[in-house]
Amino acid sequence: MSTGGKLKTYRSRRDFRRSPEPSGKGGRKVASRSIFVVQKHDASHLHYDFRLEVDGVLKSWAIPKGPSLDPRVRRLAVATEDHPLDYADFEGVIPEDQYGGGTVLVWDAGTYKNRSVDGDGKPLSPERALEAGKLSFELWGKKLRGGWTLVRMEGRGRDNWLLIKEKDEHADARRRPLSTQPASVLSRRTIAEVAKEDGDD
Ligand code: MN
Repeated sequence: MSTGGKLKTYRSRRDFRRSPEPSGKGGRKVASRSIFVVQKHDASHLHYDFRLEVDGVLKSWAIPKGPSLDPRVRRLAVATEDHPLDYADFEGVIPEDQYGGGTVLVWDAGTYKNRSVDGDGKPLSPERALEAGKLSFELWGKKLRGGWTLVRMEGRGRDNWLLIKEKDEHADARRRPLSTQPASVLSRRTIAEVAKEDGDD
């Protein structure tokens, strides 16, 4: 599917004359490594949007409790519509009457490497891994590092996944970056500061 086709749902939900979010028509520099971003989104319910660059778009999951660095903790990640690549830099206030109305900041950002394999240990592309329901990857962010797995839950529809930290030197059951490092990695602002500075009132 073309990038435009993949973004149909994203665009149909938004009025870009009203919302400051990118339409995805501007394009974005092609980076040599694939990017990831985690956006803190203070909407009707606070959640974290986890996005991975796959084949020209940002594959996206909403994580109600946010990522955990404890490998024993599995965090629900609900697949949402593909977002345009330039959404990775989006920070601001979406009007309350718009889809996803609320405040967004870039909580973490960086690059990732796909490490998915099939049952025989052969490398799988991210697209194939997502179809198969298990994507393994390594993150190089400012807050999130090391190996992670997204696995689709059995018998719960196609949208319910779990995000799990792999056991490696970056796993840490005691570190709580959601609360100890709450600010934007782009602007160093908190959600309250973004809401105050970028909001209409
Ligand atoms: Mn969201």
